[in-house]
Amino acid sequence: MSHQADVDTFMQGVENRNPHEPEFLQAVREVAETTLPYIAEHPRYAEGRVLERLCEPDRAMQFRVTWEDDEGHPQVNRGYRVQFSNAIGPYKGGLRFHPTVNLSVLKFLGFEQIFKNSLTGLPMGGGKGGSDFDPKGKSDHEVMRFCQAFMAELHRHIGAETDVPAGDIGVGAREIGYLFGQFKRLTRTHAGVITGKGLDYGGSLGRTEATGHGAVYFAREMYKTRGESLKGKTSLVSGSGNVALYAADQLLRMESKVLSLSDSGGTVHFENGLTREQLEFTRELKEVRRGRIHEVAEKFEGATYLEGQRPWGIAAQAAFPCATQNELNGADAKTLLANGLELVSEGANMPTDIDGVHAFQEARTLFGPGKAANAGGVAVSGLEQSQNALRLSWTREEVDQRLQGIMAEIHTKCAESGKRDDGSIDYVTGANVAGFKKVADALLAYGMV
Ligand code: GLU
Repeated sequence: MSHQADVDTFMQGVENRNPHEPEFLQAVREVAETTLPYIAEHPRYAEGRVLERLCEPDRAMQFRVTWEDDEGHPQVNRGYRVQFSNAIGPYKGGLRFHPTVNLSVLKFLGFEQIFKNSLTGLPMGGGKGGSDFDPKGKSDHEVMRFCQAFMAELHRHIGAETDVPAGDIGVGAREIGYLFGQFKRLTRTHAGVITGKGLDYGGSLGRTEATGHGAVYFAREMYKTRGESLKGKTSLVSGSGNVALYAADQLLRMESKVLSLSDSGGTVHFENGLTREQLEFTRELKEVRRGRIHEVAEKFEGATYLEGQRPWGIAAQAAFPCATQNELNGADAKTLLANGLELVSEGANMPTDIDGVHAFQEARTLFGPGKAANAGGVAVSGLEQSQNALRLSWTREEVDQRLQGIMAEIHTKCAESGKRDDGSIDYVTGANVAGFKKVADALLAYGMV
């Protein structure tokens, strides 16, 4: 059977079981395309039907969250926790609060998390959760009441040795505080059950920066394979959340010229390169005032607002998609390539759609998929768990050194498992195969589970 026929046969089974879950099917297809050839060479994985097992979450919880808005009216949202695989450690993965959240989105994210967490080398399984609740436009009190109601159910399913949530889109320092406070109140334990905690109550230095910085460290490793660096390169960053802002921060440290930031309303184009002052203004705008990015262009010369547009029409050498899934499609990839793009490092989860991924692979672009490139966030979450277990805190430098080491190690694993015949590296195959191998071997060791 041809490779494509193998993938189609495998996907037929997955599609039959999950017919209305496009994001989940997209994530599985990418993994199937890249791991099935490896599985065919190692019959124990095929005979043990390991990939089939990994496509089925251990369990998925769905629950009602009722909370009171500022007018005293009851509001109803849906909450979820998908516990995908604890083959190599307790379930681990963030919580996303966004109106687009549904079971398909959380299954795609939980599935990706299995491979990503495996790549970090730390003992973490894969999971994800969240709600269709939209924190945008809500008061602090409303967000607090929602978080408390959400945790009133979630606390039954999580624990430091069971399942350890963290943040994701819509869940930042404020939400983690409310969630952990409620967990502590309900269980009378102060445990390392959530990561991304505040520094006063068990958080790790460097966790906030970790995903964005990690994506840039990964890009540095990719450029190194060609004897190049980020210094002097032009970079596009999409998004203006935690990941995007710290990717931009690290790019400035490495003397790359950052040409864009964006939000769901549009893109700000920094013609002369983003300055520290502009980055700090954006951080305060987004994190404190929770405003919209067009304000940055209104405030500064040399910053133009491109309403309704994403950054991909701007010519640059490197791209850091740090907003959300499928924000960069096949047509965007062609535009970027025609404009001289050399490298993509995905700060978000699955920001490039399958056509985009294929276009970058064919062009031999240095393409770091999210599973590898954005693993720095969950890696430092793992370091937070270690510090909680040891009851001590490492310095910012210590955490950063470990993060740099982990990103370099992930790069090495991808390079080993993803080498093409022409000597270039297919990081998609590398990340999927290297991530798969450890989890698959653990599953086989357990027998029929
Ligand atoms: N939400 C982040 C991710 O997609 C971090 C998860 C965590 O720290 O557990 O990897």
